[in-house]
Amino acid sequence: MTAGAWALDAPDASAAPRRRPRPATPEEALRELSAGNRRWRAFREKHPHETRAVRNELVSGQHPFAVVLGCIDSRVPPELVFDQGLGDLMTVRSAGEVLDEAVLGSVAYGVLELDIPLVMVLGHQACGAVSAAVHADETGATLPAHIQFVAEQIKPAIDRSLEGAARIDATITAQVRLVRARLAAEPDLAARIAAGRLAVVGARYELTSQAVHAIG
Ligand SMILES: [Zn+2]
Repeated sequence: MTAGAWALDAPDASAAPRRRPRPATPEEALRELSAGNRRWRAFREKHPHETRAVRNELVSGQHPFAVVLGCIDSRVPPELVFDQGLGDLMTVRSAGEVLDEAVLGSVAYGVLELDIPLVMVLGHQACGAVSAAVHADETGATLPAHIQFVAEQIKPAIDRSLEGAARIDATITAQVRLVRARLAAEPDLAARIAAGRLAVVGARYELTSQAVHAIG
């Protein structure tokens, strides 16, 4: 997008602080995430958008270009693995990317109120939440406190055609598909998808390679 096109969006471009261009379509947003992950996995991070000027600019508002719904796992922080900075991503994180009303409301806020064109559901290799859910399902054990809720949300994704570590790994992918499908079926989001203003995509981060790849 050119600076000129971007200025059309601002009521008074001459007086307003210059907003940096941001990806405006689902395709542009995906390309930006993809480019950032390429930098990350090649150890060529730019750590963009952290300067004093950016911090000052962001006082007056935010225009993130993607919602990333990821796991709480400390090894998969979206801003790092996509090499993004302040104001770039709206991140929503829950164990195993599990949905509840607060998570749904948070994703909806980003899409409907901030007009974000891309939602990515990001699972990851060696997800402890999925592993715990599979283990509880196999043993019949009840997990402590609210962890049981998380396990119950993951349970429909369990891939019973496989055993052991393969079952856990397949369930990680199936959970991303399940959450993606549920989000895409939300009426307000579905309407935006139909209009071409939003994409809801699934992806997985591999700890081994630090690569994010799409899950169809
Ligand atoms: Zn996890």
